[in-house]
Amino acid sequence: MRLFYYTVLAGASLLANAAAHDDPAKAHYLGNEGVMITHQQTKILFDAFYANSYGQYALVPDDISEAMMAGTTPYDGVDAIFVSHVHGDHFTAAPAIAYLRTHEGVHLYGSQQVYDAILSAGVTADDPLLARIHGVNLAPEDEAESFEVGALNIDVVAIPHAGNRPTIQNFAWRVTLDGDVTVMHLGDAGPVVPDFSRHLAHFKARKTHTAFPPYWFIGHEDGEMILEDIIGADQIVGVHVPKRAGGNGDDWRERAGGDLFTDPGETREINDR
Ligand SMILES: [Zn+2]
Ligand SMILES: [Zn+2]
Repeated sequence: MRLFYYTVLAGASLLANAAAHDDPAKAHYLGNEGVMITHQQTKILFDAFYANSYGQYALVPDDISEAMMAGTTPYDGVDAIFVSHVHGDHFTAAPAIAYLRTHEGVHLYGSQQVYDAILSAGVTADDPLLARIHGVNLAPEDEAESFEVGALNIDVVAIPHAGNRPTIQNFAWRVTLDGDVTVMHLGDAGPVVPDFSRHLAHFKARKTHTAFPPYWFIGHEDGEMILEDIIGADQIVGVHVPKRAGGNGDDWRERAGGDLFTDPGETREINDR
């Protein structure tokens, strides 16, 4: 009997180990540049709250945004939200504030401009919500800032927005979950080599497993050089693909010559080995 008991315990522990291995980190596509990263019980969101499609980008579909708000699986237990920049196809204060008020353990990290947009949306200076909103004021020449918060190692640099929009603070967030899986989101960065190479030491300081650049990096000579030689990510998934790519992802991926997220709800496994 006793032997049987130990055997069952050993078996259960083997199963638990197997389950951990069979439960890889995943990227879940939300829409435009919205991505959720999950690694066991650690979960983060990038550019997940925005209200403007500008007529051509996918909004987060209602069923996904409702599940996020309700905190149903797999959108439960989010630890932090990261925002690349204040453009309306990446960030709108009202839905972000509503989410943060409903999910009281969640922190938001963005630029000073994101912080100011939240203040402009009616959050007053004495509102306890502000303790969970972290506005980082960085210019493109500034060195990376780093934070360690619970299960997350967070580093951020400012990379100028594509198409000469020098007044917009656009951030590339690199986040490591559980000391194990590292992802990078580039917002609307332009594929301009010196904007990245000035931060070469930062990019080389930690291995990025999966990077999410805007799709204009993919198949673009300088964009590919930045992804391969400067960032050096193992896996690339392009985002910000126009909404009309939805349902035609395979054609778009083939034409781009690389992986793209095109349909909200699709996922990729993140290989952290
Ligand atoms: Zn933008
Ligand atoms: Zn954009």
